[in-house]
Formats: sequence, C-alpha cells, structure tokens
Amino acid sequence: MKIALTFDDGPNHTTTLEVFELLKKFHIKATFFVIGNLIDESTSKIIRTISEYGCDIENHSFSHSFMSHQSREEIAEEVQRTSDIIKTITGKMPRFFRPPYIDLSAQMFEEIPLIFISGKGVEDWVDEVDANERARRLLETVEDGDIILLHDLEGNHKTVKALEQVLPIWIEQGHRFVTVSELFFEKEQTINAAKGILFQNRNDSELWQPN
Ligand SMILES: [Zn+2]
Repeated sequence: MKIALTFDDGPNHTTTLEVFELLKKFHIKATFFVIGNLIDESTSKIIRTISEYGCDIENHSFSHSFMSHQSREEIAEEVQRTSDIIKTITGKMPRFFRPPYIDLSAQMFEEIPLIFISGKGVEDWVDEVDANERARRLLETVEDGDIILLHDLEGNHKTVKALEQVLPIWIEQGHRFVTVSELFFEKEQTINAAKGILFQNRNDSELWQPN
C-alpha cells in the first residue's frame, strides 16, 4: 500500500522536530502543511532541513482562519503569501492546499490555484484521544492511496507516541510512504486544481457543495 503521511499546523521547535526525527529514524518521507505566520528566521531553518531531506512543504494558509468568512482578496493573500515564503525557503512552489478546519467556500476554490487536500484523521487534536487510541485508529483506518491527516502542532506529543507504535508495524507490513506530490504525480498523471474537488485519498475525491 502507498500512504502519504501529512502533518498540519507547524512549524515549531517541539513536535515538528520530534516528527522529523521519527521520519529519519524509519527512513521515510512525509508532507508538512505549514502555517505562514509561524515561519520566522528560526523555524524557516527547520523547514529547509525537512525539505532538503525529501519531505514536501505545502500550504495551510497564513493565519489559519476560517477562510469561508474571508473576502476574495484576503483568501488570495493568505495563500499567495504563504506560497511565496515556502518558495523562498525551499526553492519549490507548493502545489497542494489544506484548508484550515477543512472550512470551504466557493470563493476559496475560485481564488486558490492549488489542489485541495483533506485526509483521514484520527482526532489527534483532541487531548482525550490518547496515544494508544490514536495508534489503534491509524492501524484500523489505513487503505491504499490514503492521505493521513495528523498534526505536528506545538506539544502534540501523543501523536508522536502513536507513530512510534504504528510506523514499525506499517513498515513490517510493507507499506510505502510517499509525499502527497508523489502520491498524485508519480504515474505521470496530471491532476489539476479542479474547482470544488477535495481529495482525502488518491483514488477518491469528494465534490464540495455549498450547504
Ligand atoms: Zn490546521
């Protein structure tokens, strides 16, 4: 099975680095959806190191707001600013966007020229969901082509603990870990930023519709 592990809400000096240490330990790659306004002189070094290792750095907005409440100009600015920062640090322009809170609007699809990604999560932002439960859900959930949505937000140590349990099992089972761009572009297929399409698995997409 091919799986894309993804981490939202970094970069920071705690969990982002712990996750990165684990990836190195198991010789695997992942994708980090970063928040623009958390990138400063010191966290940009973390991003550069992670990118040089082979992970992808993608866009999770500048201010992590509920973007369906923003104007067209604000939406465009949120994404462009963050993409420009990432390009400056890594030399690579992001191709994927994860909407904060998976909060969506028609305007967002019109203004954001990136592929929208959601993913399968295990409620790893909920403190009551402990590391064992996160691990159990991860092992139960995973399917070929999955985008696994986790969080390297500051202090989210339970997710690191869960991955310490799960990664050796997945590796033993023979799964391959790819970045989101490898998951989508490996077969020379081109997926365009189609309006209203949100991917949670390489093989499945949902069409977003206004309520
Ligand atoms: Zn987020």
